[in-house]
Amino acid sequence: MIRSEVRVSTTEEVVAELRKRSAFVFVSHVKPDGDTLGAGLALGLALRAMGKQVAYFQQDPVPRNLRFLPDADRVARELPPDLPADALWVFCDMSDTSRAGEFLPLLDRANVLDIDHHLGNTHFGALNYVLSSECSTGTCVLRLLRAMGAPITPEIATNLLTTIMTDTGGFMHSNTTAEVLRISAELTDLGADKEEITEKIFANKRFAAIRIVGRALGSARLECNGKFCWSVVDDAMLAETGADGEDTEEIVQHLRSVEGVDVAALFKDYEGDVRVSLRGNGRVNVQQAAGRLGGGGHHRASGLTFAGPLDDALVAVRAALLAQGL
Ligand code: 5GP
Ligand code: MN
Repeated sequence: MIRSEVRVSTTEEVVAELRKRSAFVFVSHVKPDGDTLGAGLALGLALRAMGKQVAYFQQDPVPRNLRFLPDADRVARELPPDLPADALWVFCDMSDTSRAGEFLPLLDRANVLDIDHHLGNTHFGALNYVLSSECSTGTCVLRLLRAMGAPITPEIATNLLTTIMTDTGGFMHSNTTAEVLRISAELTDLGADKEEITEKIFANKRFAAIRIVGRALGSARLECNGKFCWSVVDDAMLAETGADGEDTEEIVQHLRSVEGVDVAALFKDYEGDVRVSLRGNGRVNVQQAAGRLGGGGHHRASGLTFAGPLDDALVAVRAALLAQGL
């Protein structure tokens, strides 16, 4: 991981760099979501319309429910053979380069642009467009598009509205400000297909997905005087229900929605890792709790990958949350 000074690049600096370069690689994080993908695809589409060469690098496959995103079929782990050495690598929605996975080639920092809205972003790029007050990385991209005067096509608008709907939990999280609603209305006017986004992302579950949700909710525990709700999904539960990792996304939100719960945790003990998703109601800073264990994210939504067995993860996460005021 590369660390550096904290200065955030100005919109003008980033726009000048985007204009100067002729080739780009957009990088999304492992276990990609609608923000990391939609942000890169939106800016990629705009740059392609300007005649620039654009590739999308992503370690994991595009999740089933995001394949409808315009240009998502161009996302791959392979890089184009004719990629120039001075291509700009644009990382979207990640605090550090390790979130891009292990297949990322070694890069010259001079060729790295970091666009993100995470609080704990490590400013790993030559340029770092890190706006932690933005609801999504996509709305950071929208600022760049406006500054460039780039036309926002319906395809770009759909990608951008997806970033917003993903990271606001369908306009429900506290980051859904009046400005976010105004931007969303504008994007809808520009042709963003809100109906399709809602259907594909929020109402397109496989039957196995509701079965794994049921299994995990059925074994949820309530601790710390009802302030901490947690559950586990493991390989056996996935096999039993026919579900996979993509089907577990919404479980932690259900755990958080229990009355009186300040923090919810889902321990994902499958595919050889213990990954933990944390969600809070704002009273306990779950980004700092995750940070104590090498993870990161936002004040109310964070995650980490635990190096060790599930039992140790349970103890460590509980301790981190208590230290954070749970
Ligand atoms: P999720 O629980 O949906 O996987 O992630 C919630 C938030 O935590 C996201 O903003 C994501 O970027 C962050 N996050 C999830 N897993 C990790 C991790 O292993 N490391 C870091 N630094 N952040 C994570
Ligand atoms: Mn995001």
